[in-house]
Amino acid sequence: MGIIVQKFGGTSVATPEGREHLVQKVTKAAENASVVVVVSAMGRCPAPYATDTLLGLVPCEGSADARELDAIAACGEIISAVVVTVALRKAGLNAESLTGAQAGIITDDCHGQARILHIDTKRLKNNIEAGKISVVAGFQGVNSKGDVTTLGRGGSDTTAAALGAALGADLVEIYTDVQGVMSADPSIVPEARWQDRMTYTEVIEMANLGAKVVHLQAVEIAMHSRIPLAIRSTFSDEPGTLITDLAGAGAPFAPPKPVTAVATTAGRAQVVVPAHDLGVFSAMAQAGVSVDMINVFPDRAAFIVAMQDLPVVKRVLDELGHEAKIVEGCAKVSIVGEGMRGIPGIMAKLAEALARAGVDILQTSDSHYSISCLVPENELETAARALHAQFGLGGM
Ligand code: ASP
Ligand code: MG
Repeated sequence: MGIIVQKFGGTSVATPEGREHLVQKVTKAAENASVVVVVSAMGRCPAPYATDTLLGLVPCEGSADARELDAIAACGEIISAVVVTVALRKAGLNAESLTGAQAGIITDDCHGQARILHIDTKRLKNNIEAGKISVVAGFQGVNSKGDVTTLGRGGSDTTAAALGAALGADLVEIYTDVQGVMSADPSIVPEARWQDRMTYTEVIEMANLGAKVVHLQAVEIAMHSRIPLAIRSTFSDEPGTLITDLAGAGAPFAPPKPVTAVATTAGRAQVVVPAHDLGVFSAMAQAGVSVDMINVFPDRAAFIVAMQDLPVVKRVLDELGHEAKIVEGCAKVSIVGEGMRGIPGIMAKLAEALARAGVDILQTSDSHYSISCLVPENELETAARALHAQFGLGGM
């Protein structure tokens, strides 16, 4: 019998109704596979056991340090694991709650952003053999000193992927309150559609370009282990989005589309420094400013920064004595698709769509899997919708 890891997010475990759906999903999966469940903390702040509520109990100034913050943050998932275990038992399933440490998740010492180093799967495997469902508290592990660590916000997805990889699972399912991954942010592109298939690379690229989908590390782990990752709704029976590599990682082959999604990031500013001086980049780095869309020419260098970094950026440029040109109120719009690599004409189609829509392109950058344009922020919606339509992402 194969193994399936099912992860349920905060909204899925928060209410009796959500947990009822959860019990149905687990019961169904357990008919044909050994199931390991991973849970997030219940609900969002101000729900009593949500991660932010728990963190709010210990003001950061003063005596609370990263170790104590991890110890309290991890409680949310532990509470959730017990509540879910009891619900599963009530439904007649054999289940046991486990903290991250009990599940054998060993991490480094980096509190708040710990990396999983190793998973000792003995206990999980024993449970599988005994026909028992382990309900693992997500988002946490234990370091070599025995101290509780957490994996960074949204880290329960990573717990699920890492357990899937360690157990050689056939599938990792991320259950959430939405039906899967969309072709664009629907608040910007109303025509956005649910995606039935995407590749790991596309989802990673989308996340890097501003779309919040799944915890990045979870996708990286699934990709590395070639385990299909499904994003599904706890509250419906829709198939959701199946994330695999281009070849399908065991799923039926789907020919790659050159462009599968449009990603957007608002709140950027463009900086153009006249005579190019690479010292500007070290100065930005020293000031802790992350730069993006970097173009260097013999006579000038251009890059973009987040609008909230602008005061620091201006100070650094002043100190350097640079007469920089700064264009505030910009946004980045990108097309993403693993199938675009080496296909001629994608940039031409993009340029044509934006020209037709009357959108000015201020700057561009690209990778093998994406092309990004900097546009005036007040034209972001027009640009995103034009690209979405141009590449046929809104359907027939
Ligand atoms: N509860 C944690 C958070 O809010 C982890 C997670 O939900 O994945 O970040
Ligand atoms: Mg999440």
